[in-house]
Amino acid sequence: MRYVSTRGQAPVLDFSHVLLAGMAEDGGLYIPETWPSLSADELRNMRGLSYPELAAKIVSLFVGNNISDSVLLELCKQSYSGFNHPAIVPLVQLDHNLYIQELFHGPTLAFKDMAMQLLGRLFDYTLSQREEYINIVGATSGDTGSAAIEAFKGSKYLTVTILHPHERTSEVQRRQMTTVMDPNINNIAIKGSFDDCQDLVKAMFADIPFRKEVHLSAVNSINWGRIAAQIPYYIYAALALGAPDREVSFTVPTGNFGNILAAWSARKMGLPIRMLCVASNHNDILTRFLLNNDMSLQTVKPSLSPSMDIQVSSNFERLLFELLDRDAQQCASIMRDFRKQGCMNIPDTVWHKATSLFSGMALSDQETKQTIQKTYQKSQYLADPHSAIGIATAYKFRQADIPMITEATAHPAKFPDAMQQATGIRPVLPLAMKDLYERQERCEVLPNSLEKVQEAVRSIAKKNNTF
Ligand SMILES: *Cc1c(COP(=O)(O)O)cnc(C)c1O
Repeated sequence: MRYVSTRGQAPVLDFSHVLLAGMAEDGGLYIPETWPSLSADELRNMRGLSYPELAAKIVSLFVGNNISDSVLLELCKQSYSGFNHPAIVPLVQLDHNLYIQELFHGPTLAFKDMAMQLLGRLFDYTLSQREEYINIVGATSGDTGSAAIEAFKGSKYLTVTILHPHERTSEVQRRQMTTVMDPNINNIAIKGSFDDCQDLVKAMFADIPFRKEVHLSAVNSINWGRIAAQIPYYIYAALALGAPDREVSFTVPTGNFGNILAAWSARKMGLPIRMLCVASNHNDILTRFLLNNDMSLQTVKPSLSPSMDIQVSSNFERLLFELLDRDAQQCASIMRDFRKQGCMNIPDTVWHKATSLFSGMALSDQETKQTIQKTYQKSQYLADPHSAIGIATAYKFRQADIPMITEATAHPAKFPDAMQQATGIRPVLPLAMKDLYERQERCEVLPNSLEKVQEAVRSIAKKNNTF
C-alpha cells in the first residue's frame, strides 16, 4: 500500500513512513494511492469477528506488508483491552431504526482513544523495529492531549510534551493529562490561550534546526494512521445491523472532519452506506458549505461541545482531493487561496458532488441542551453535548426503512455541568476513573515563551534518552 499527497509535490511513501511523517512535505495530507475494496462476500465473512479482530483485518489493508498480520492482531488486541465495555463499540437503540454507537469506553472517555490507542502501539512498534527515537509535541484544548498521553505513556522510543492553556481546560480533562506519572510524559500549562499553545507548537516545527535536533513529531488528526483506525467501527456497526444485505446511515458529530472521513472511506471501500450526516455546533463552516457552498472562516465561538469548536476542518482536504478526481494541482491551489482569502472557492460541480454524498445540520447550545433533555425523557439515555448534536441531526435525516446510527463521541461524565443543567442528573465517572479527583498531579507552568518550551522539550528528551 502506497500513499500520495493531496498536493502532489511530496514523495510517495509506504504506511510506516506516512505514520511517522504525519503531514506531507508539501503541506498536503497523505491518502492511499488506490482504495482497498471489500466485496459483499468478504463483508459477510467478517460478521463473526470480535472488534479487535475486525480492526486488525481492516487496518491491515492500509498497512500493507510493513507489519505482519499476527503482530497487527496482537497490537489491536492490546489497544482495546483497556476499554470499559466488552463489546468495545456497543450499539444502543434509542428509537425505531435509530441507534447510538458508543465510542467513549476507552481510557479517556472520548472517541479519540479508538484511534490513539492503536496509533501509540503502531508508533512504538515501528520505532523499535528501526531503533529510532522521536519527541512528540502537541497543543490541546482537552481531548486530543489526554488521549495521546494515555496512548503513548511508557514508551521507550518517544517522549510526549503536551501544551495546554493554563486554567482554561475542564478539570476532568486537565486531570486526565496531569495525573499520568510516566517519565516520558511531560505536561506544560502555558500562561495563555489555546491559540498561543498551538502557535508555540507551530513555531517549534518551523524551527528546522530544533526540529532536526530533537526529532520532532506530531500525532494530530491529519495522521492517516488515525483515519485508518476509525474505519473499522463503521463496518462493525453496519454488519451488526444487516450489512452488506441492508444499507445503513450514519450521523457523526464533526469538528476536524476526521471521523466522518473514516465513514466515507468505509463507503468508498464498498460498505453500503445510504446517508452520511455531518452534525455541527454553532461553529458551522461545514453545514454552511453543504447548504450554500459557503466555506468561509469565521471566528471560533466557544460552545457546550468544545471538541467541535473548530474553524478549519483539516481532513476536508482529503475529500476535496477525491471530489476533484485527484487533481492535486487544483487541490493545492484551492487550499492556498483558502489560506490567503479565508474562503474556499469550490466549483459548483464539485459542491454538487459533496451534497450528494453528505447532509448536514448545525445546533445552537440551547438546542443541544433541549436535545439532551428530550433524549433522556424519551429513551432514558444520557447523551453528552457532542453526541446530542448527533442525535438531533439523526432525527432530522432518518428514513423509516434504514437503520440510522449516531456516533456517540464522549462520555456524559466528561461534561457534568452541561448534563446537570439539562437533566438535573450529574453523571458519575466509570469505576476505573473513580479516584481521578484524588490522584496526584504533575505539571509545569511556563510563560508563553518559545525558548522556555524548547528547553523543556530538550530536557525531557535527554532524561529519557530519546535525544
Ligand atoms: C474530536 C472530537 C470530535 C470531532 O471529531 P473530528 O474527527 O475532529 O471531526 C467530536 N466529539 C468529540 C467528543 C471529540 O473529542
